[in-house]
Parts: sequence; C-alpha cells; structure tokens
Amino acid sequence: DPQLNPIYTFENFVEGDSNRVARRAGKTVGEKPGASSFNPLVIYGGVGLGKTHLAQAIGNDVKRLHANKVVLYVSSEKFINQFQDHSRNNAINDFIHFYQLVDVLIIDDVQFFNRAEKSQDAFFAIFNHLHQSGKQLILTSDKPPKDLEGVQERLLSRFRWGLSADLQVPDYETRIEILDRKMKNDGLEMPREVVKYLAYNINSNVRELEGALISLLAQSSLNKREIDLDLAKRVLRNFVKTSSKEITIETIQKMVCEYFDVSYDKLLQKTRKREIVQARQITMYLAKAFTKNSLKTIGEHFGGRDHTTVIHSCQTVKDLMDTDSTFRESVMELQQKVQLAAM
Ligand code: ADP
Ligand code: MG
Repeated sequence: DPQLNPIYTFENFVEGDSNRVARRAGKTVGEKPGASSFNPLVIYGGVGLGKTHLAQAIGNDVKRLHANKVVLYVSSEKFINQFQDHSRNNAINDFIHFYQLVDVLIIDDVQFFNRAEKSQDAFFAIFNHLHQSGKQLILTSDKPPKDLEGVQERLLSRFRWGLSADLQVPDYETRIEILDRKMKNDGLEMPREVVKYLAYNINSNVRELEGALISLLAQSSLNKREIDLDLAKRVLRNFVKTSSKEITIETIQKMVCEYFDVSYDKLLQKTRKREIVQARQITMYLAKAFTKNSLKTIGEHFGGRDHTTVIHSCQTVKDLMDTDSTFRESVMELQQKVQLAAM
C-alpha cells in the first residue's frame, strides 16, 4: 500500500494528556477494525498536531495484525480528484465500487469536502455500504464534525455514530518526550537545557517543534559547532515568533477571569462557588500546560495553595473534559487564546 507510510507508528506517537483518548481509541481500532463502537473514528485537531500520523499508525497496525485486510488511506483532496476523473468518464459506479471493497478506509482532512457536493454523495454511498458491512472508517478533520461547514448534514450525523476524539497541543512534558524520542530515533544528543528550551518555547504544534530541531541540527553542522543554548536561542529567533513572548501565570489568570467574567480577587479567594472553582481549576491546568512553573509555584499564585491542590485541579479538568462537552469546549477555546497570546 503506497499511501501508508511505515514510519508512522503508535510506538513513536508519544502519549500525553493532549492525545490520550484519541491514541487509545486508535489502538483499539487497529486491533479490532470494524468491531468496536468507534466506527467511524473521527480524529480532529489543529495543524501539525498528529492527525495524519495517528490515522496512519492505525492503518499500519491493521496491516501488521490483520494481514488479510485491505487498508486504504487517501486524502480527501485525492478522493475528490479521483471522483471527478471518474465522473468525467461516466465511471462513478466503478469509483464507488472500488472503495466499497476495502476493509479499512482512512480519509484524511475531510474538511476539504466542503467544496465538493457530488463527491459527498459518492462518499455517502461508500460510507453506508462499508458501515453496514462492518468495515472500519477513520476520518480526520481540522475541526470537530459539528463545525464542518459545507458538509452535508446526513454525513455529519453519521460521523457522530462513532467516536470523535481530538488532538490538542501537547503540554511541556510531552513536548520534551517527543523531542527525546525524535533524537533517540536519529541517534542524536544535545544538552538538557537545550531540549527544555525548545520544548518550552515551541508550544504551537509538533510539526514546528520538529522543524526547530531540524534547523538547529542544520545550523550546528553548518557552523561545525556543538549545540548549546546560545545557538538554540539564535536559531529560534529566526524560526518562530512563538518564542518571543513568555506566558506567565498572571497572564493566564487574567484571560480566564475575562473569559468567565470572574474578578481576579474571586479567582484567588477560597470561595466554593462552582463556577469560580472551575475557573480556578482551568487556570491551574492551563498554567501547567503553558508555563514551566512548578506545581508548587502555580499553587502559590492561587493564594498559597499547595501542589496537591494543583494536581487535583488538573486531574479534575481532564476528567471533566472527557465527560462534559460544553466544559471541554470552554477549555479548548481558552487554550487557543493562550496560544495566540504567546505568538
Ligand atoms: P497533522 O496531520 O495534524 O497536521 P501530522 O500528523 O502531520 O499532523 O504531524 C506533524 C508531525 O508531528 C509529524 O512529523 C508527526 O510525526 C509529529 N507528531 C505529532 N504528534 C506526535 C506525537 N504525539 N508523538 C510524536 N510525534 C508526533
Ligand atoms: Mg495531516
């Protein structure tokens, strides 16, 4: 299968809070394609957060574990182009028939279906046939299905039959692990402080993190010098604007206050009102994800709470995000605001 790239595996897809649900669902689908309730599995998230990697890892796992199954990976653009070619040649039925023969269909970036009404009709027929025959569908999208504009409602309602799982920006520790994994794979080493510097400053997406690592390596061999913090700083200055601003706990506190219309004092006081407790927990969660402050320091910024309170808050936020979609959307929206502020 030329479309599946064997380098995309679960093994090198680092697990973190940002991707745990999607990654685990993906593993299940790879083990039992078509036989879990995750059908379709919709993986969504912003650019460079690992949608293609994860979708391909599932495909590769199916091929590894079920040698007889036919896996087809295709981008929605390619699907649309193929459809249009067949349509011009009056061969739409052949097109649909071809797709109906696969066991696992992976369509990447379905947001591009928005400008292709007829292709959506074909996809609808394919989807129905595959789903009814117990075949697996895996879709990726840059936004949650409900926000996909220009995609037919009958398709969107089918996307909701299975599981939609998102990929978020990995937190600082996960970013460190991703860098460590890449370096290990390539047999590279660099000082701890440089790894931390990169992970801390590149908090937009994984693709940029990799890009920064590559530029740094290229620069060091061009200059024939060791990678050190000084070189990392110089490379990063030309590389991303995200490195320019440091996000502080205070900035995050202010953003959350504004978002929930809560006063700064209330956020820090020991009130037990539910809205305020939640706002406070979200703030701690974001502070942990977007700053490199210790749990202790974060706690101190909330009227001297201790680190166990911070741990508990982060866990509560994660749990609620899994079960309460309104809550989850608020956190994701805030997360985006913090990211923007860091640029
Ligand atoms: P998307 O399709 O969402 O734009 P990609 O799947 O192309 O993103 O991922 C961008 C890059 O980041 C790829 O090189 C991918 O291997 C890497 N990547 C993303 N998430 C992870 C992760 N959790 N662990 C390791 N590498 C990752
Ligand atoms: Mg992609």
